[in-house]
Amino acid sequence: MSGLTRRALLGTAVRGTVLATMGGGAAFLVQKAHGQVVWQVDAARCINSRLGEAGVEACNLCTTECVVALSAVRAVNEYSKCGRCNICPAYFNITSAVDDLGLPSEKLCPRDAIERKPIGKVDPEDPANNFYEYIIDEVKCDGCGKCAIKCKEPLGLGSIVLKVRYDKCVNCNRCAISEKCPKDALQQLPVGQALR
Ligand code: SF4
Ligand code: SF4
Ligand code: SF4
Repeated sequence: MSGLTRRALLGTAVRGTVLATMGGGAAFLVQKAHGQVVWQVDAARCINSRLGEAGVEACNLCTTECVVALSAVRAVNEYSKCGRCNICPAYFNITSAVDDLGLPSEKLCPRDAIERKPIGKVDPEDPANNFYEYIIDEVKCDGCGKCAIKCKEPLGLGSIVLKVRYDKCVNCNRCAISEKCPKDALQQLPVGQALR
């Protein structure tokens, strides 16, 4: 069954469950409707976000399992941790051939969802001392995690993590991602704790 078809079925099932439980589960649904509890990714557990989890393939279950089209999960750059690297391993495919400027010739993101903007004046004679801002376009990003898993030691700092975006999430009773997550990294928390 294709991902799209599965999503459509799951989406219908979610809506059906919501309607079917409007009786006995009404109090819980009202609580959800008011945003009292939300699902979030625990970065300390997620394969893609967790520091120390290196040398493995990115887990794409947040993309393929979410009932929302394109997923409710996005990569987020926590700028306070970002090294503004000249050659960012989350932006470039660092195994690709080097171009005329001495940079990897290919980007990593399959959806071209990361923008690289120079900070200040670029000195072509001193590339190691040029710094860049990496901005994730959340319209394009589907939370595949490829960038997050590359922004780790030894080259990255763990600045990019996956997060559930609450404006996209429909707050399923049982998050479909949590059912499949190999690290039990999807947690439902009171909104005050989740957004701290
Ligand atoms: S399913 Fe779990 S381990 Fe995989 S990307 Fe999502 S939170 Fe991370
Ligand atoms: S999570 Fe995937 S789609 Fe989103 S910016 Fe990173 S590599 Fe691109
Ligand atoms: S609660 Fe539902 S919509 Fe939200 S992230 Fe999980 S599966 Fe996606």
